[in-house]
Amino acid sequence: MSVSEGIAQLKALLGKSGLRVVIIPHISVDGDAAGSCSAFSGALTKAGIKCYIVTCDSIPDYLRWLPHIPQAVSFQEKAGRCKQLLQEADIICMLDHNTVKREGDLEPWVRESKAVKVMIDHHPDPEEADIRISDTRVSSTCELLFSVITGIWGREFLTPDMANALYTGINTDTGGLSHNSSRPETYRVVADLLELGLDKEVVHRYIYETNKLSRLRLIGNILLNKLTVHPEYPVVVLPVTLQELEAYNYQEGDLEGVVNIPLSIEEIYVSVQITQRKERIKLSFRSKGAIPVNEWARVHFNGGGHLNAAGGQCEGATLEEVVQKVFDTTAWFFSTYAGI
Ligand code: 5GP
Ligand code: MN
Repeated sequence: MSVSEGIAQLKALLGKSGLRVVIIPHISVDGDAAGSCSAFSGALTKAGIKCYIVTCDSIPDYLRWLPHIPQAVSFQEKAGRCKQLLQEADIICMLDHNTVKREGDLEPWVRESKAVKVMIDHHPDPEEADIRISDTRVSSTCELLFSVITGIWGREFLTPDMANALYTGINTDTGGLSHNSSRPETYRVVADLLELGLDKEVVHRYIYETNKLSRLRLIGNILLNKLTVHPEYPVVVLPVTLQELEAYNYQEGDLEGVVNIPLSIEEIYVSVQITQRKERIKLSFRSKGAIPVNEWARVHFNGGGHLNAAGGQCEGATLEEVVQKVFDTTAWFFSTYAGI
């Protein structure tokens, strides 16, 4: 299904009356997931369609200024309400993820639901959906969603709130338009958003100028005391213990962007943040150039993602064991995928 076929099908579907739509972002909501949920909720609401955002976990504070995001219903807090919304939904829209597996505890309820499943996403290897609007060339789901919203309702339908939300995803998924953003189309979308009322300064202030002292100290501690360079390969690991998160009063989103920092070291090509959570160890991979860290995450850490930004997890292992596993699989990864 091409993007334009998908948009045409979605437009026809949304033409029915009395619809109830549930919008779902991926687990560990980021700027692109929250921005796309906010903008799409705004569009559906403006079109008179009833919609709800349902999440498996909580949405970080730095994204809660986005319209409609504070009203999202979390499975962690209101499991019963989430199940009911999923059971009653006519349409479930999965935004910014390519598999229902990325919906955490919502997965079984989504799979069981009879609703029409719509995927709007930019990750490689998307799984089946009734309507699949997927394009791996775009910078972000928000860039793709611009085409979806304007394709269904026309360009003038887009409000300044939707423009701010879409720009949030484009900006955060590209590291402030630094990576994965070399297509002229991305800037045409940004130019359109500016014409439609995007306030770039407001978005930047909310996303980048809302630090807390505890967050800066947590990051400082990681960079000073925890960052470890692989003895033979251009790889950095950043292990973070649960105890450290608690000591620095960790809030969801506080570590956003930290894994990118070591890539600014000229001779480092891969950065891996390994974070201990209550029930599992979470890994975040970033790389420069043609080094496919999504393959590393997929083969060894039950994950996936993009060429230069991927993630995975380990259950039933200690933080030290996971760090060791990253080091132990480094030679395999570089010889298999980077020819070193
Ligand atoms: P992050 O490191 O910011 O959590 O994720 C980076 C990228 O990898 C995102 O595009 C995200 O969708 C993807 N990703 C993160 N964790 C996982 C995972 O567990 N499984 C898969 N398939 N992709 C992941
Ligand atoms: Mn994204």
